[in-house]
Amino acid sequence: MATPNHRLPTWTVATIGTSVEGRPIERLDSRPDRVRCHVVVVCGVHGDERAAADLADGFGRIDRPDDLHLTIVPLLNPDGWSAETRNNARDVDLNRNFPWGWPRRPDSGAGPASEPETRAAMLLLETTLPDLVVWVHQPLNYVAALRGCPDRYADIWSEVAGVPVRRNLVQVGGGESWVDRRLGVPSMLVEVGGTLADAAGVDAHVAALEALVSAVRPA
Ligand SMILES: [Zn+2]
Repeated sequence: MATPNHRLPTWTVATIGTSVEGRPIERLDSRPDRVRCHVVVVCGVHGDERAAADLADGFGRIDRPDDLHLTIVPLLNPDGWSAETRNNARDVDLNRNFPWGWPRRPDSGAGPASEPETRAAMLLLETTLPDLVVWVHQPLNYVAALRGCPDRYADIWSEVAGVPVRRNLVQVGGGESWVDRRLGVPSMLVEVGGTLADAAGVDAHVAALEALVSAVRPA
């Protein structure tokens, strides 16, 4: 595990929105004066994926290029995290609520982007248009580069974290798919294995992000 790079700026914390129950949704930024690349990592879309907190904490400690702007959303679904439920406080699966191919299902929301958590993520990504977005989920144990994302990004993650690559991933209503199809921003989905926080698995995925951010090029 790498030690923090103390030459880099310290983290700032800001709020990108609030949840249905009024909990703040935070973003953490490490932003140098001269930015070559901006990578956003979104964790905790589903509240029952309990490795999210340890993963976000680990991602914040990686060694990273001193011209990289790294943004981490540790917990997009703080109500679900608090209740330990997959869905948000209105029982909506946020990863079926994004406005690309929105599926009409009982848990996909009243309409596309009906949920404040979804809109908070959209606003962050629409206004920053980063060079890469990494969406972190659990427990399916694979990594996927969506259509417009270089395959080598998934290959790097796969090799370092020891998880298989899944090709041709598309998920209607998914945040990762919305970023790819609507924003045209490179988007990856990482599915960490295991249903509970697993220290070994967390460390491997943290190492994978560290390797990836050194390889990311401006989109
Ligand atoms: Zn998930």
